[in-house]
Amino acid sequence: MTKRAYNFNAGPAALPLDVLQQAQAEFVDYRGIGMSIMEISHRSKEYEQVNDEAQSLMKELLGVPNGYEVLFLQGGASTQFAMIPMNYLQQGQAAGYVLTGSWADKALKEAKGIGETYVAGTGEASGFRRIPAPNEIEVRPNAAYIHITSNETIAGSQYAEYPDIGSVPLIADLSSDILCRPVDVSKFDFLYAGAQKNLGPSGVTVVIAKEGMLKDSPKGLPTMLRYDTHAKSKSLYNTPPVYSVYIVSLVLKWIKGLGGLEAMERLNHDKTKLIYDAIDGSGGFFEGLVDPGSRSLMNITFALGSDELEKKFIQEAEAAGFVGLKGHRDVGHMRASTYNAVPYESCKALAEFMQEFQRRNG
Ligand code: PMP
Repeated sequence: MTKRAYNFNAGPAALPLDVLQQAQAEFVDYRGIGMSIMEISHRSKEYEQVNDEAQSLMKELLGVPNGYEVLFLQGGASTQFAMIPMNYLQQGQAAGYVLTGSWADKALKEAKGIGETYVAGTGEASGFRRIPAPNEIEVRPNAAYIHITSNETIAGSQYAEYPDIGSVPLIADLSSDILCRPVDVSKFDFLYAGAQKNLGPSGVTVVIAKEGMLKDSPKGLPTMLRYDTHAKSKSLYNTPPVYSVYIVSLVLKWIKGLGGLEAMERLNHDKTKLIYDAIDGSGGFFEGLVDPGSRSLMNITFALGSDELEKKFIQEAEAAGFVGLKGHRDVGHMRASTYNAVPYESCKALAEFMQEFQRRNG
């Protein structure tokens, strides 16, 4: 039996063991072709099958309605921060950004360099403990789109409910929570996610958008930064990150095999409940950093009473085999990332470790 760490890394993050083992089994000789998938043309029938399968499984799992396309791009979600305003923010319009933490802020900063923007809602007054409610979002008449960050990886918050904003396009960054639960894709005009948390390794970014958003990109944009380039070529305009897309296809099959997104949501709910219960049942020894109604199924943030105690917690957790529990350098404290591939057993072990640590130090 392979010994695996209790991996709570924030991204790149845990991948399913079954997927790693399948990739290992076909690493040197991909399905009898005598080469790996990395050593053949991205125009070969073998790779085209991987690409097609990844796209169609993504549609199937998310229940993507007709009239939407799935693209696999490069440059990470950070490149989408720029491409979105470059493609969709025109003169005379303003793009509205809902601020929920560091990643929403980064998306807004990038758009500011490209056109007019405004803050369409913010959780700043609560120290980003709370996601703004749907009725707190301002949609201006000249809004080009509203951008939200579905899950704030650093703060540990997530939309429980997405806003309905009428006819203005709703664009969402799902980098850290795509496929963690069912989503009504028809609420969105465009969504995107870097792969390295719930989908696979880094190197590929998924875009799911209405076909209308993916054609007739503005004149003058560089070829690679236009959505119509990628839509026209089925994401094969240039050499794609073949290995990343291949692993994504295996991860999608793994999710399907487990029962799809409803099953994933149940599992994630059960996993995170163990840890949130350890926080809530600690009588204040552990302090959750997000209000219960905005808590994330993917990133659980919490603090202990002092820097020394937090240091001790991290050190002892590492010695006990837990990896990745230190909070992001911008906010400190603790963060346990419980992405789809993090097993229930890891979460159970962490909750038990927290309770035991409290007994010794509380
Ligand atoms: N958005 C969110 C919510 C993220 O968590 C991250 C990465 N942690 C990014 C965007 C940036 O992604 P990338 O590193 O793929 O550019």
